Amino acid sequence: MKIQRMTLCGSVVMLIFCLVHSMAQVDTRWKMNDRNRPLPPVIDPGTASTQDSPGSPPSDALVLFNGKDLSQWVGAEGQPAKWKAENGYLEVVPHSGYIHTRQSFGDFQLHIEFAEPVPAVGEDQRRGNSGVLLMGQYEIQVLDSYHSNTYADGQAGAVYGQYPPQVNASRPPGQWQTYDIIFHAPLFEGDKLQRKARVTVLQNGVLVQDNVEIEGVTGYEPLAYKVVPNKLPLALQDHGNPVRFRNIWVRELAPGQ
Ligand code: MG
Repeated sequence: MKIQRMTLCGSVVMLIFCLVHSMAQVDTRWKMNDRNRPLPPVIDPGTASTQDSPGSPPSDALVLFNGKDLSQWVGAEGQPAKWKAENGYLEVVPHSGYIHTRQSFGDFQLHIEFAEPVPAVGEDQRRGNSGVLLMGQYEIQVLDSYHSNTYADGQAGAVYGQYPPQVNASRPPGQWQTYDIIFHAPLFEGDKLQRKARVTVLQNGVLVQDNVEIEGVTGYEPLAYKVVPNKLPLALQDHGNPVRFRNIWVRELAPGQ
């Protein structure tokens, strides 16, 4: 009896766990190799970038910067973004403020490319510092970490202040680098956190963050979450250094997958 109750309890706990975490599961409505099962949408996957030219985004992506203008971006108060858009890239205008996407995003795949200033100026956290702020809350660090030292959880590819990248896959300043980021938003029920955000990051095609659980808003100590809506704008950080960005696109994902 006791064992049965424990088994039931175990099942309920597992069910709640699965619901809360919305883990992908095999859909039992379909038999294995069932030809009646709907096929995934067909898309054009686009092309990879080279140092000389940015690639093309997948056909189902929303382009956030196509090399021409800042039409998808605004300043912190909704005013026009003041960064430079020229020669196919965006460049931070130091001390002009963060820029934010007009649209909000929750769960997504994000591609963004950056190049660090040449010649390298400054050391440590003052060398080519910027950042990609997921939901404007959680920073994936952008920094010149090529032959330059700083603390582990502050170098390029870090979830800033939380997780160092698994490896330092940085290219020299001036070369284009890529971040491919898969992000799942935190889930709140009222003001109660039900599920932490998770992020996977590849830098220059190399895995640097493997589905890590984000512990709170960047810059808060001790780490804690702020209650936020399901979707918020992405932001790019102005840390006073003229970092460049190009070929920015995002694909929204089904929540919780
Ligand atoms: Mg930064």
